[in-house]
Amino acid sequence: MYEITVIPGDGIGNEVMEAAINILDALDIDFNFTYAKAGDDCLEETGVALPDETLELVKASDACLFGAAGESAADVIVKLRQSLKLFANLRPVKSYPGTKALFDNLDIMIVRENTEGLYKADTEEETEEGAIAKRIITREAEERIIRYAYEYAKSNGKTKVAGIHKANVLKKSDGLFKKILYEVGEEYKNQGIETDDFYVDATSMYLITRGSEFEVIVTTNLFGDILSDEGAGLVGGLGLIPSANIGENNGLFEPVHGSAPDIAGKGIANPIAMILSAKMMLDYLGEKKEADRLENAILKVLSEGKDVTPDLDGNSSTMEMSEAIKKAL
Ligand code: ATP
Repeated sequence: MYEITVIPGDGIGNEVMEAAINILDALDIDFNFTYAKAGDDCLEETGVALPDETLELVKASDACLFGAAGESAADVIVKLRQSLKLFANLRPVKSYPGTKALFDNLDIMIVRENTEGLYKADTEEETEEGAIAKRIITREAEERIIRYAYEYAKSNGKTKVAGIHKANVLKKSDGLFKKILYEVGEEYKNQGIETDDFYVDATSMYLITRGSEFEVIVTTNLFGDILSDEGAGLVGGLGLIPSANIGENNGLFEPVHGSAPDIAGKGIANPIAMILSAKMMLDYLGEKKEADRLENAILKVLSEGKDVTPDLDGNSSTMEMSEAIKKAL
């Protein structure tokens, strides 16, 4: 029995979460779902966007499914990531049929370091001339993320890890990242995993010109942030892109999209990003067989293209699409 904290949050977060839970309930796995509050509505109701009870609940559970938070997103998701020490952000770039993916042969996992780099809190300062932002690269955090990427490759049958950096200019910080990449890569060589490295500027082009050659990408915080949004654009838009945030003891799974106030309450949000986030949770929990079964059901519904939401040129509702996937299971 897995203990799962469910935070639907705001706007379409509620709708896509209902669609995802509907499907998880149909799998051959025992879950105990506990619903918790966070986000704008919670702030209005309780005075805080992320109540302590919610945080404690997430800490004590095996995983957390998160829908979306509106204006208060930074207070909610950033705080959750920090409190739970969610050091790895996983963003798949995978082409699915029946979508507006620009290429039909992409299958990349971007593994982004999520605790330091240029986004480490409180390292920006104002100066007389303007402002300075420091970029923090520690051996510990970079080795942890690089090792995570190789372990991910190993357990998912991948054969290549590419480290992305700018070591020609950032000689000390990214020089260290590159050095660690090859040190760790050496350990995985005889396990059938190759190591490569590319500059981040070149990579932003390669994703377009030869994206199908990448399998697992590992990179620092800011570069990962940018490349994963480029990846989202390559495979067809916000309603489809899931993400995982992994820590030493917890995993938090959420769609990349926000609360989408423009379509909230209409029942037309595409539930795929949330359902694929749930699929990533199944992978994280080691439930590979059910994760694959769920992905195949999604593939079936997308390729038939008949029970899909308006953003995919269909006229089904969020729950109708969820029901179709459940049936395809
Ligand atoms: P927030 O302030 O919560 O981030 P937002 O509207 O600024 O909300 P998103 O929620 O990411 O940002 O939405 C951006 C656009 O993408 C909106 O037009 C929205 O309708 C569309 N969109 C986002 N998610 C979905 C979805 N699941 N299905 C269909 N359209 C979506």
